Amino acid sequence: NTPLHELDPEVAAAVDAELHRQQSTLEMIASENFAPVAVMEAQGTVLTNKYAEGYPGRRYYGGCEYVDVTEQLAIDRVKELFGAEYANVQPHSGASANQAALFALAKPGDTILGLDLAHGGHLTHGMRLNFSGKQFDVVAYHVDDSGLVDMAEVERLAKEHRPKVIIAGWSAYPRQLDFAEFRRIADEVEAYLWVDMAHFAGLVAAGLHPNPVPHADVVTSTTHKTLGGPRGGIILAKKDFAKKLNSSVFPGFQGGPLEHVIAAKAVSFKVAASEEFKERQRRTVEGARILAERLTAADAREAGVNVLSGGTDVHLILVDLRESELDGQQAEDRLHEVGITVNRNAVPNDPRPPMVTSGLRIGTPALATRGFTAEDFAEVADVIAQALKPSYDADALKARVTALADKHPLYPGLSK
Ligand code: PLP
Repeated sequence: NTPLHELDPEVAAAVDAELHRQQSTLEMIASENFAPVAVMEAQGTVLTNKYAEGYPGRRYYGGCEYVDVTEQLAIDRVKELFGAEYANVQPHSGASANQAALFALAKPGDTILGLDLAHGGHLTHGMRLNFSGKQFDVVAYHVDDSGLVDMAEVERLAKEHRPKVIIAGWSAYPRQLDFAEFRRIADEVEAYLWVDMAHFAGLVAAGLHPNPVPHADVVTSTTHKTLGGPRGGIILAKKDFAKKLNSSVFPGFQGGPLEHVIAAKAVSFKVAASEEFKERQRRTVEGARILAERLTAADAREAGVNVLSGGTDVHLILVDLRESELDGQQAEDRLHEVGITVNRNAVPNDPRPPMVTSGLRIGTPALATRGFTAEDFAEVADVIAQALKPSYDADALKARVTALADKHPLYPGLSK
């Protein structure tokens, strides 16, 4: 029972340093968030010791009476949260959920239609080196010149290729998708509709984004992005798909479920049903709008900064640097220098290679969780706008970042 700091000081020191990094910088990676202490507490429990292959009430191991309680709570809560007929809370990650979902709906060699990675899609939606791209025949749709998903192209490609599965979802897209239109197209070509709401699930839970569940056959998500829970995945579906999805997750792709993570998922679904969570999601979306407004102002445009699609409806913006003297890598480094963490991101038809890119993806969920208000988001938006100009005062901007971080202490009880 030796504590971590005594047993393994090297690991403990790195964990402490990471806590300090999260506390002292501004986290604006759109796919990240800060899990509540209670979620991390659940994840750090003795449930990590338990084997529980199978599902609540139907396990292949003895002694599952308590993990049955926590897993059933997670299932019931997430079904209620999104109005779903079926839920599987066992996928270890978003990619695992997507793999299980895709193999439940289609078999290798079948055609799938998803958003191109370079236009905001995810690796698991058909990228060449991913299982989805290697084992399925991939057709990709794109965004048009205004930065919006080209639904006319989706329909044309669907009719031409008659995919088994149409995938609606994204990792880097600042607008809402038209799920009813995706459903209409899927019905027309007798395809399944799978929505991957990994990024915007928190907004859906808060009623700030259309819910894909009534439209889709299957909906997958991560639990750690806007949803704000532990790192993991979930699958929701119409009950007709229950058997296939359950067997695709286990024994199809996974063995024993991570019951400590599932307990933490249950806690996060309880949090996501609260008024406080809705209020936080409202600040998240408002913060992204404030960022988009600031980075489309005249001085930002003069510095060659543009915002794809001209704004945002969600928790992130995509900054287009094709007219800037900075590329995506240099812009990411600049913001890092002043204490803001973002990720570079390809823009559609990017002239630069994927390791460099001509864009940034900037998100607000983590700062909203930290308590940022509209006024704070206006301040951080101005710091970003100044940092992306040809000449900038790194020390002055860093001081403004530190003041914001100090104003909203993160995990104060965890500091040593
Ligand atoms: N789906 C989408 C749309 C994502 O953006 C991501 C993560 O970036 C995933 C799935 C995969 O999630 P994970 O990283 O948990 O495997």
